[in-house]
Amino acid sequence: MSGIKNNNLESAFNTVLVSQSVQEKLFRLDITNDFDLVLNLPLRYEDETHIYPIHDVPEGKTAQIEGIITHSEVLSRPRRQLVCQVNDGSGTLHIRFLNFYGSLVKGLAVDKRVRILGEARAGFFGTEMVHPKYRIVRMGEPLANVLTPVYPTTAGLSQIMLRKLIGQVLNRNENKELFAETLPDSVLKRYQLAGFKESVMLLHQPPPDASAGLLQARTHPAWHRIKFDELLAQQLSMRLHYRLRRSHRAPALPAKSKLTTALLALLKFELTNAQRKTLAEVSHDLASHHPMQRLLQGDVGSGKTIVAALAALQAIENGHQVAIMAPTEILAEQHYQKLSGWLEPIGITVVWLSGSQKKKQRETALAEIATGKAMLAVGTHALFQDQVVFEQLGLSIIDEQHRFGVHQRLALCLKGNKSGFVPHQLMMSATPIPRTLSMSYYADLDISVIDELPPGRTPVITKLIAERRRSEIILRIRDACCTGKQAYWVCPLIEESETLQLKTVEETFDTLSELLPDLKIGLIHGRLHAQEKSAVMMSFKQGEIHLLVATTVIEVGVDVPNASLMVIEHAERMGLSQLHQLRGRIGRGSDASVCILMYQMPLSAIARTRLKIIFKYNDGFEIARQDLKLRGPGEFLGARQSGVPMLRFADVENDGELLDAAKNVAEEILSEYPESAQRHLQRWLGKKNEYLRV
Ligand code: ADP
Ligand code: MG
Repeated sequence: MSGIKNNNLESAFNTVLVSQSVQEKLFRLDITNDFDLVLNLPLRYEDETHIYPIHDVPEGKTAQIEGIITHSEVLSRPRRQLVCQVNDGSGTLHIRFLNFYGSLVKGLAVDKRVRILGEARAGFFGTEMVHPKYRIVRMGEPLANVLTPVYPTTAGLSQIMLRKLIGQVLNRNENKELFAETLPDSVLKRYQLAGFKESVMLLHQPPPDASAGLLQARTHPAWHRIKFDELLAQQLSMRLHYRLRRSHRAPALPAKSKLTTALLALLKFELTNAQRKTLAEVSHDLASHHPMQRLLQGDVGSGKTIVAALAALQAIENGHQVAIMAPTEILAEQHYQKLSGWLEPIGITVVWLSGSQKKKQRETALAEIATGKAMLAVGTHALFQDQVVFEQLGLSIIDEQHRFGVHQRLALCLKGNKSGFVPHQLMMSATPIPRTLSMSYYADLDISVIDELPPGRTPVITKLIAERRRSEIILRIRDACCTGKQAYWVCPLIEESETLQLKTVEETFDTLSELLPDLKIGLIHGRLHAQEKSAVMMSFKQGEIHLLVATTVIEVGVDVPNASLMVIEHAERMGLSQLHQLRGRIGRGSDASVCILMYQMPLSAIARTRLKIIFKYNDGFEIARQDLKLRGPGEFLGARQSGVPMLRFADVENDGELLDAAKNVAEEILSEYPESAQRHLQRWLGKKNEYLRV
């Protein structure tokens, strides 16, 4: 781990001599050794290899010129500025400085020869450059013979210093090992990859004939190689991790189909093809004695719960217990009700475990889990705790897995068995992950996708309505509820203060109750006791409550098919996936559903974009793609980000082909050239390969 501890910088610079203060600055850039310097690749380049005649200087592009100062003057109007005229025989150009010291005025005196690098624009005085880079030169001073790299840097660490340090690392002969090729020839040839050393040399010191355009766009073959290497390191790390976990033994739980057939016969619906297909994948994994590590993805409402239930039955039929974990109490309880409704009739004991349970209940549940009487345990993260000892856990299922970090997921997985087996693991997520992201950041999992919704759903109609039309909306809700519909009223998220948020829901509940005396209105929020929450949810489910005023606690998983209306207040404050999840609470029955997104002006640019996206798209995958574009992978991935190697150079959206190649090569070299794989990983992730250590 890198990290700054006073006077105790563990650095590994072998080639360059750096002072303590420079070292500290390098640490801030996360540069702690020679190779980090090599990977501190330029952000962009400046072309100082060429001088343009002033007459031909291109407009709007950075260009270098050279000439004699023919006039220099400090103007005081319209504001204080230094203006000089430079002439090179082909024409005259003005340079202008708005902030300057006296020394600059002296330096840029008439008759001096200057080299200027800047962006030419048509200005008040004719062609001009504002705040250009400048240098007094002698006649015939040699030009740079490589493009000048501009590095990412930090305050106090100059470009010149970085260039010098990096140059030293690059040009030392002893550093051969640092640049040694990690990839076998066959791979280089097949994917037409440039050599590693060649590529870093070129990126740091590009010759004048290198295409500045390709370099800038990061599509130059040298960039391809770097991005490929980075993607490959990520694949290697994650696939290795996958293999490592897979090397444990799990109980083989082959399909027996007695209980599953019994459950299917009880259901009021037929599985969709997508449910059948994903179930077959899960079922196949369970039959193996390697632990399954599968992610079941499916949009909100696609019917993941029944797939989980059928998978659970397969384990139970083999005499193994199953744990299902959900991120919130409301959802855990709802799962408990649904699953016990499905499984108790076929003779399976289901128990529920939550943090807020009464002691007595909890002890009974724990005992039933320990003796193996309860074959299925449903709960919140309370299931992780040490007191929970399973008699024979064969499968753990984690719903809404994106809510949990890698560590929590592993904890449940490690909740082993007396037999020394590791349980199979099924994760579920309603935040669909775009393919490129799942291929990169989820490469340590197998993925099944439910890509269709159960039949008979009518897409939710989304309306964007300004806050000032609130009373109109209230009347609409009243009318709808009077005809037997049910609605959610979602109160705004107030990130700064939970107390304020609580106050807001309570006030909203009071006002709505006053304004709509003929409706039965319920209230639910995170601070209610578990029993109160479940009582409210129950009466909403049974149709006794018309309108449920709620915080975003109802965001995940809540399933009340008769509810067909939703009002979301201050929708502009919410993220896309949250809005999509909330909206997914309706549109579950056959009634046409309407979701009203209330917003308050003024809208920030990003809020406006989000609202447009959620208005335009219903499909969770498309929303996720847009969200990814808007926020980038780091934020999009949320909890998963911790511990997974992030990408600095490659970008999964635009480098899809390289990603495909890296994926194939990773499998190939892990099997056939394990030494290459090892060296590659060491080079790229050496100190950062925490993920492997989890
Ligand atoms: P999610 O994937 O969001 O967890 P759920 O499992 O909660 O979705 O399912 C949403 C609703 O669809 C539930 O009421 C469920 O019983 C119902 N459902 C699931 N599969 C089908 C199907 N094949 N046909 C009809 N309804 C289904
Ligand atoms: Mg669900």
